[in-house]
Amino acid sequence: MTEPQPAWSDEGGAARTRALFEAAFGEAPDGVWAAPGRVNLIGEHVDYNGGLCLPIALPHRTFVALRRREDDVVRLVSALAPQNVWTGTLENVAPGRVSSWVAYAGGPAWALGEDGFALGGFDAAIDSCVPLGAGLSSSAAIECAVGAALDEVFGLGLLAAGDAGRARLAAACVRAENDVAGAPTGGMDQAASLRCTAGSALLLDTVDASVTQVPFDLAAAGLELLVIDTRAEHALVDGQYAARRATCHAAAEALGVGTLREVTDLDAALAALDDDVARRRVRHVVTEIARVVEFTDLVRAGRVRDVGPLLDASHESLRADYEVSCAELDVAVAAARDAGALGARMTGGGFGGSAIALIEAASAGAVAEAVANAFADHGWAEPGFLIAVAGPAAARVA
Ligand code: ADP
Ligand code: MG
Repeated sequence: MTEPQPAWSDEGGAARTRALFEAAFGEAPDGVWAAPGRVNLIGEHVDYNGGLCLPIALPHRTFVALRRREDDVVRLVSALAPQNVWTGTLENVAPGRVSSWVAYAGGPAWALGEDGFALGGFDAAIDSCVPLGAGLSSSAAIECAVGAALDEVFGLGLLAAGDAGRARLAAACVRAENDVAGAPTGGMDQAASLRCTAGSALLLDTVDASVTQVPFDLAAAGLELLVIDTRAEHALVDGQYAARRATCHAAAEALGVGTLREVTDLDAALAALDDDVARRRVRHVVTEIARVVEFTDLVRAGRVRDVGPLLDASHESLRADYEVSCAELDVAVAAARDAGALGARMTGGGFGGSAIALIEAASAGAVAEAVANAFADHGWAEPGFLIAVAGPAAARVA
């Protein structure tokens, strides 16, 4: 099926999630909230190096139907396993106590408690059309949907406070991912899910978590963004991510800077490092941050048609210097370019997951088919596709 996977509407997503809630818990939820997955246009593996990144919120979202409880019991259910209701208390959704999706769904309650907010127990049901484990941040989408729901039912006032409140909620969701789920990711995913606006990309400066909305209208330029989910999974990914992070932090220390963002003279920095692996990692980070600036400048100048070479250069840097690509991602971007894409690159953490291709409007079918054929030639499972349009951030939908 090379047909792009559609996103659920507010009504469609809310109806199925409400039904899941009612079947599991026998009563109606207080409401339904939804938070998007994201795709990063450029600025990969820089969010833990004080860098800049430029994600858009996907139209594909995770929905949560949630009801506040007056005790401290927490009950969670996912449409992936509707017969398995996880039951615990607020004390249980803490670091070292839960794993997997329960950590993503329960973790925000712990993190908000750590932030000084008084919360009680809750029942929550989740369902999602964000592809899972595809590098499109289905994990942050769960955290941010639950976070938005808890904010409202417990009257925390974060979403009502505008972007500053959303930033504080995003920080709590990052702690849920880092401390409760134990995934050492940076802050990009939660910022995208909570702070994007429809029609714009989010320029996130990870030094101070400040954001700038960058209008991003591909349709006006006759273009589309095709997301290719390779469906490739590779072992040892968590260890690789932590290793990249550690190498970058050690290199920053050796260079006497707080983060690699502060490196202004790349040649001097490379000369000062005595380890070839560290040099290549630093070269990726520093050149990638520069590409984000160039990309943003082109978009602001109305020249989005000219960003293709930056996408290609980002992929090459991630492949050769940062070494986080894989055969499936390399084949996907090569096949997309051969089929006419203006540029293509892996997106997200890598080692599988998704790639993006900037394509002419109405060419998605042909490009998707070319990628699917290339995968078939390698004997790989068929990839998935979706069209990314810059959608809105987390919000109540019903
Ligand atoms: P990504 O965030 O890129 O999708 P992650 O590995 O961070 O990849 O998160 C994927 C994991 O999140 C899945 O393996 C699963 O444990 C969990 N997950 C995501 N969506 C759901 C869902 N709707 N129901 C249950 N678990 C989910
Ligand atoms: Mg994730």
